[in-house]
Amino acid sequence: MTGTTAEWEYAPAPESTKVEIKPQYGLFIDGAFRPAKAGKTFETINPANESVLSTIAQAEAIDVNLAVASARRALKGWRRAPALERAKYLYRIARRIQERARELAVLETMDNGKPIRETRDEDIPLAAAHFFHHAGWCDKLRWACPTADGSVPEPVGVCGQIIPWNFPLLMAAWKIAPALACGNTVVLKPAETTSLTALRLAEILQEVDLPPGVVNIITGAGETGRELVAHGDVDKIAFTGSTEVGRAIASTVAGTKKRLTLELGGKSPNIIFADAAIDQAVEGVVSAIWANQGQVCCAGSRLIVEESVADEVIEKLRLRMRSLRVGDPLDKNTDVGAINSRAQLTRIERYIKIGVDEGAQHHEVCDAALPAKGFWCRPCFFTGVQPAHTIAREEIFGPVLVVMTFRTPDEAVARANNTQYGLSAGIWTSRGSKAYEVARQIKAGVIWCNTFNQFDPAAPFGGYRESGFGREGGRSGLSAYLA
Ligand code: NAP
Ligand code: MG
Repeated sequence: MTGTTAEWEYAPAPESTKVEIKPQYGLFIDGAFRPAKAGKTFETINPANESVLSTIAQAEAIDVNLAVASARRALKGWRRAPALERAKYLYRIARRIQERARELAVLETMDNGKPIRETRDEDIPLAAAHFFHHAGWCDKLRWACPTADGSVPEPVGVCGQIIPWNFPLLMAAWKIAPALACGNTVVLKPAETTSLTALRLAEILQEVDLPPGVVNIITGAGETGRELVAHGDVDKIAFTGSTEVGRAIASTVAGTKKRLTLELGGKSPNIIFADAAIDQAVEGVVSAIWANQGQVCCAGSRLIVEESVADEVIEKLRLRMRSLRVGDPLDKNTDVGAINSRAQLTRIERYIKIGVDEGAQHHEVCDAALPAKGFWCRPCFFTGVQPAHTIAREEIFGPVLVVMTFRTPDEAVARANNTQYGLSAGIWTSRGSKAYEVARQIKAGVIWCNTFNQFDPAAPFGGYRESGFGREGGRSGLSAYLA
């Protein structure tokens, strides 16, 4: 091989930005868009160039009341609707997401900063898949969650759902699809920096004639979420986001009759044994930590490599990292797009500095120029990392990998479990018995063998310990929406 892949030239392949973005969006309450009562708004920007995309209504307590009241009114009809009627709506939503897939992918990439390759091939198809999957469950709930007397289980009621900015439409689908399938109604709050695809989904709900009030979408910042959590007429809160906010929500909900599921952060291990197919494992590391700029709750952010192959893995990782293209998220060649916000970039940079200050070695090899505007962070990894280092313990939520080594499977397991989180793990080995033995001992909600970041609506997802509780997807996910 002469030179490195970094020297390859690519012709730019930008996706067209011709999608409709309205200059203003209202709140989606009772099947219609309306301004916030107090008239407050906020701007959403494209993190790849800092341009303002749209102005969005900011919901306050009075708007949250209206949304919850609308969901309460709609509950009566929706929970009693024939199961196959509910299924038809979910199918229609799924089909409409597919039909508008390009538009949704472009919108998501512009609002979030993630590469179009990911929104086009992963976020949007998976969002549609969640609605398809749950459409199929509507008339089978009796088998999803059997009741003592064989009757159809009842929905929980009005569900308040709060989602983060890292997979905006996908998280909305994860939350809305099972809730509706079970006969619940919803008030959803997207993250402040990424409301646009949720609002486009609201348009889709209008297009498919979903009865008014079954889904309400209230935009705003953390305060809007707090109002929703504290609201007296909400039966369940489903939250995905940081462990810190998750803790605050748990204490607000404690002592009330509200049900709660929390999907929080992680610091997931990715273990490579010497007998693994090393090239495949390195590809797995790339997708585990550099997909979505590492802003993934289940990112494989701690690489734990068997000592005898550590040099080889690190060398191959360095070479592979060189070939990652960082830049315009709308370019189809781009591997690593923009960080979602300035605040998140600052947080990542702070952790990189802490890693260097604590004595770990920082490796960053992509040297291509970055755009002048926007929030950018080159992928990197740290070696010489000790388990006590801050960067080995805390969730960074960025394209920053820490590499540690082990000598025996027991040591690998001990390192992997040395965390307050328990969301996911990866195991790379060519021996099935070893994969099984190690997986059995790792405390994580999702464990991938010889792959990473694979999602399927039928497979439950969720964590242990500070990664939260409750499962989303599959039968376990449905039980969280049934009384
Ligand atoms: P976050 O603050 O927990 O936000 C998640 C959602 O909760 C957003 O919609 C947020 O609104 C809302 N929110 C904020 N404060 C709230 C409160 N007191 N009550 C109710 N809702 C509230 O997470 P973030 O700011 O997006 O990111 C911070 C860190 O969270 C990340 O760096 C990462 O460590 C972690 N995170 C984890 C996941 C995951 O999937 N597990 C996803 C994203 C982030 P606004 O965004 O509008 O403020
Ligand atoms: Mg934005």
